[in-house]
Amino acid sequence: MATRVIPLVDQRSRSHTVPRSARPVPLVAGGSLVDTRGRPLRDLRISVTDRCNFRCSYCMPKEVFDKNHQYLPHSSLLTFEEITRLAKLFVGHGVQKLRLTGGEPLLRKGVESLIAQLSALRTSEGQPLDITLTTNGSLLARKAKALKDAGLRRVTVSLDGLDDAIFRRMNDVDFPVADVLAGIDAAQAAGLGPIKVNMVVKRGTNEQQILPMARHFRGTGITLRFIEYMDVGATNGWRMDEVMPSAEVVKTLQSAFQLVPLEPTTLGETAERWGYVGTDGQHDPSLGEIGVISSVTHAFCGSCNRARLSTEGSIYLCLFASRGYDLRTLLRDGASDEEIYEAIAAIWQGRADRYSELRASSSEQARGPRVEMSYIGG
Ligand code: SAM
Ligand code: SF4
Ligand code: SF4
Repeated sequence: MATRVIPLVDQRSRSHTVPRSARPVPLVAGGSLVDTRGRPLRDLRISVTDRCNFRCSYCMPKEVFDKNHQYLPHSSLLTFEEITRLAKLFVGHGVQKLRLTGGEPLLRKGVESLIAQLSALRTSEGQPLDITLTTNGSLLARKAKALKDAGLRRVTVSLDGLDDAIFRRMNDVDFPVADVLAGIDAAQAAGLGPIKVNMVVKRGTNEQQILPMARHFRGTGITLRFIEYMDVGATNGWRMDEVMPSAEVVKTLQSAFQLVPLEPTTLGETAERWGYVGTDGQHDPSLGEIGVISSVTHAFCGSCNRARLSTEGSIYLCLFASRGYDLRTLLRDGASDEEIYEAIAAIWQGRADRYSELRASSSEQARGPRVEMSYIGG
């Protein structure tokens, strides 16, 4: 089936005015901040580049992200010092987990030194942060050890199939699957675990890879997670009939393996977990588990505790937002830590986003074009 591609409407410069704090928040709030739906702020995803060496059609279709596409100039990108300063203020508001993403985060020059700066941050209880990174794995074989040495805890690798022809087609730059598998091995050898592998399942494209992927990663200590193809951004020509619901993925897996449902491990966990059953009929931890992330068929907005910092320093409150809040201007206009801290509080206190719960409603569908995932990160 031919991919429908929709031209890019540049959303990057559209932003909300940064509000002033509605309610006073002490400088070390330690996590008491909640949004209009009572959701705390725990997870900050940081996009470090809008560039990528892959052209996955569900994210950066080649026809849109071609040689004429204008990437951000280097001066627009937050510097590592600016990112670290903002991250520290977010940690003051209760963030415990940082995830570097993009674009392809390993393309950002010197990303190891950013990781080193971030790994020096501590929560208000003096705990180190959970620092992780999502990557397409293409540069991981080369960089895994340096990333670990810099303080990265773990990685999530995106991999949409094991069949080389299918994988080359999906990344659309003819990148071989063997190189990503070598990257995963290097990450495991460097101790960047527990590793997660994310597979976006697109009906008609790679659903025949579900079982081979499960067989490959079962018993390796790597958790494979299947992600429903989402209507992020505005260019990928998303259609509901190309979404393979997680329930169907689980049914496919159950045709080959015995699985039992597992309890969530953390608050706000997006994946529904299933464990492989051993000979005694119970979950066998040595065989591991799989996860399904049902972003389309089962909204988890009620526990969504994530904020996203775009490559040029705007905060997005939802993956499906049309606009962010420009913190870079505050940073570069010389705002104090207290002022930025209060601005973050006011932004989060005003948050009402729950796109996945409202996906089908006409008001959501009539809203302006959404920002691209490669800009705000996954
Ligand atoms: N380049 C890195 C990578 O691919 O892992 C990090 C950025 S990428 C935007 C982050 C995650 O978003 C990847 O796991 C990718 O598969 C996922 N993603 C991108 N577009 C998606 C879509 N339309 N539906 C579901 N997941 C998507
Ligand atoms: Fe690049 Fe990741 Fe998007 Fe694929 S999903 S195009 S690897 S940013
Ligand atoms: Fe969070 Fe928005 Fe996704 Fe809902 S749709 S889970 S609010 S990112």
